[in-house]
Amino acid sequence: MNSAIDLTPAAPCTGMTFGPQPRRHTRAVTVGGVQVGGSAPVVVQSMTNTDTADVASTTKQVAELWRAGSELVRVTVNTPEAAAAVPRIVDKLAMMGVNVPIIGDFHYNGHQLLTNEPACAEALAKYRINPGNVGFGKKKDTQFATLIEFAIRHGKPVRIGANWGSLDQALATRLMDENHALPVPKEAAEVLREALIRSALDSAARAVEIGLPADRIVLSAKVSGVQELISVYRELARRSDFALHLGLTEAGIGSKGIVASCAALGVLLQEGIGDTIRISLTPEPGQSRTTEVIVAQELLQTMGLRAFTPMVTACPGCGRTTSTFFQELASRVQEHVRAKMPEWKVTHPGAENLTLAVMGCVVNGPGESRHANIGISLPGTGEAPSAPVFEDGEKTVTLRGENIANEFVELIDRYVERRYGSAGQA
Ligand code: SF4
Repeated sequence: MNSAIDLTPAAPCTGMTFGPQPRRHTRAVTVGGVQVGGSAPVVVQSMTNTDTADVASTTKQVAELWRAGSELVRVTVNTPEAAAAVPRIVDKLAMMGVNVPIIGDFHYNGHQLLTNEPACAEALAKYRINPGNVGFGKKKDTQFATLIEFAIRHGKPVRIGANWGSLDQALATRLMDENHALPVPKEAAEVLREALIRSALDSAARAVEIGLPADRIVLSAKVSGVQELISVYRELARRSDFALHLGLTEAGIGSKGIVASCAALGVLLQEGIGDTIRISLTPEPGQSRTTEVIVAQELLQTMGLRAFTPMVTACPGCGRTTSTFFQELASRVQEHVRAKMPEWKVTHPGAENLTLAVMGCVVNGPGESRHANIGISLPGTGEAPSAPVFEDGEKTVTLRGENIANEFVELIDRYVERRYGSAGQA
């Protein structure tokens, strides 16, 4: 070859597939009527940050999370007051028409709380048990068994949820000692990852031994590092067929928490690993708890795994857009369709698949708008003050003047009515 650049067409790629790998087979678990694992779509869940003993504020937050789209909601059950509040919260939610299974999160004293508050054991749809936090020494086994026996007696599923921050220390120490005795010891971090995986798998095996059916067990083993999480879950998926709950624990605040969670979960979901997800964000001051639900939904939707609400494609803007008009329009359109979606879900099924584009100028505007179901290309700096609208690839109208935003939102509503309404063809 004479040239430094080889212009020969590349050989056709074999073995490369488009899109996520097929979901790994897992046992289906039913949590208060919601299926997790098996052939069910990946389920979105969240957790409250109110004091569970405060019935009014916890009920309100659960309802907010449910309205945002959370399909399961977990609450802390840490005190006798919290345990006593659970049945009241579940009753209030039912009276409000909020139909979401409530999961109880137990650490240290779950065996006592369930023993003393049987109504809590019955009201919860699932128990989360952290094998690193059920007790120490001989008590650990009996307290773990008590929790599992409650689940058996009340017909509830359980998540065995190991966590890097509360790793079973006895197991970790034993594996470390065994590692030191090896001719070539492994890195300590690898041994600790194995301890986390073993903590989840051994506890699940113990639960099955006690009598809990395997199709009532969900597993998780959360860490706060992206690469560690990917490695741990690949191994969990390889070594068991339990349904898996994915989440990067203590992901952090703001963009860091979102990016780290999506980086880790995105890789695993692409590999077909994961049956339910939670995004563990630290809310910024004043930020709604529902952000974690929206991020989880957007992760699944942008990966093409599920559809929840119409998605807006918008360009980042550049020197060709010197006003903030198109940013405001993109934001307004996203808020509009998000607000309308609960109603459309009932009256216009399929509207969640709608794609929208709000573009800043003629460079990519018409092209991107043609790819969307309905898109608008706004006038950039120096362009004629007109905004062509495209519907299903065809230019249908050009908007002008001060009222472009309202007119475009009306066009979206009309498109949804036409395509997804009772007379629609979707
Ligand atoms: S579409 Fe136009 S305004 Fe938007 S980023 Fe591209 S060049 Fe800039």
